[in-house]
Amino acid sequence: MTMDDLNEEQRIIVDNVRKVVKERIAPIAAEMDREGVFRWDIARLFAEMGLLQILLPPAYGGLEEDKTLMYCLCVEEIAKACASSALLLIIQAVGIFPIISAGNQSQKDRFFPRLAKGDELVGYLVTEPYAGSDVAGIQAKAQKENGDYILNGHKCFSTNGGVASLYTVLAKTGGKKFTFFVVERDQDGVSVGKEEDKLGFRASNTTEVILEDVKVSRDNRLGKEGEGFRIAMEDFYMSRPSIGALALGIAETALDLSFKYACERKTFGKPIVRHQAISFMLADAAIQIEAGRGLMMRAARQHDRKKSNIKLASMSKCFCSDIAMKITTDAVQIFGGYGYMKEYPVERLFRDAKLTQIFEGTNQIQRMIIAGEMLKEKR
Ligand SMILES: Cc1cc2nc3c(=O)[nH]c(=O)nc-3n(C[C@H](O)[C@H](O)[C@H](O)COP(=O)(O)OP(=O)(O)OC[C@H]3O[C@@H](n4cnc5c(N)ncnc54)[C@H](O)[C@@H]3O)c2cc1C
Repeated sequence: MTMDDLNEEQRIIVDNVRKVVKERIAPIAAEMDREGVFRWDIARLFAEMGLLQILLPPAYGGLEEDKTLMYCLCVEEIAKACASSALLLIIQAVGIFPIISAGNQSQKDRFFPRLAKGDELVGYLVTEPYAGSDVAGIQAKAQKENGDYILNGHKCFSTNGGVASLYTVLAKTGGKKFTFFVVERDQDGVSVGKEEDKLGFRASNTTEVILEDVKVSRDNRLGKEGEGFRIAMEDFYMSRPSIGALALGIAETALDLSFKYACERKTFGKPIVRHQAISFMLADAAIQIEAGRGLMMRAARQHDRKKSNIKLASMSKCFCSDIAMKITTDAVQIFGGYGYMKEYPVERLFRDAKLTQIFEGTNQIQRMIIAGEMLKEKR
């Protein structure tokens, strides 16, 4: 599957995102990174373009078909200019997914109109200080009280934790049963803790969220008690191709910039692109990006076709993020001393690429999943 397989309407959507990103995001991306503050104007721009709503049903502004693929392609276009901005689409999709996948009709009727407007963001609260890769190790508890629930827990690394008004929260509902709940940020007992000071994705908001005796109505429980772990895993199958897309966007810009620089910068009487050591790095990057895009698009396409994409989703996430790290590292090398300076754009790409190897399941976890799937296929 390649970009040529998109239909006319899909091509128009991607072209439009590319154009807006070039005009509105690219010129301010370095400044956003320097200032390290969340920008509501970017979130509103994406909402107006319908990008935060892609996964919702069409009646609420979502796309009719190929939602995962189109969402990934939009993420990739935005990430070419600003990874922090692209993450807005991802965390909105990841946060909304439990409602789409497990919400009952009355929950959809309550939350979808709010999300369709696009002026509210959703946070996804799973990770805790002592449980990241090991999702089943979370300690947040939802205790039943007169049919409703009292939530207590400490969530960390929550993207948009300080700016989202809704959270989908995973908590234990007894023993090894996990359940998702929708919690409003302004509810009694919810507080936003420390905002993280990060290496990259500096214009993305990442905070702790503390839940202390938060009363949650049974009407805000998503699915049955005990379905939370499955929902969290299914969310990954949707989101991992998009982390691949995020990483690809970063890698593509690193390649574009380093190729251009290599054609201009001269040493020993010729442009450095004429030194084989440099041109091979660029050729490898081009190969890897082409391969990564094929993988990402296939993983997304499988998800849209409602076919199992567990292995492809992990491969896409793992491969694209590993090549993004390699390509951005090489880009810094190709720029030489200038690559190390904040005045040049490649150091930001290098810092941003690192996160793509870590979140939505580290690449060690992806390899465990891929190997596990291979063993299942062998049986
Ligand atoms: C900027 C940022 C934003 C994030 N946003 C969100 C969010 O919105 N919502 C959310 O819920 N979470 C979020 N996360 C959390 C993220 O998903 C976790 O950080 C990630 O899953 C890794 O968990 P951990 O940090 O606890 O690392 P750990 O699980 O402690 O892992 C530490 C190291 O050990 C390795 N490791 C762990 N287990 C194994 C094993 N069995 N075999 C081999 N190696 C292993 C890991 O690969 C890693 O290298 C975010 C994280 C960051 C940094």
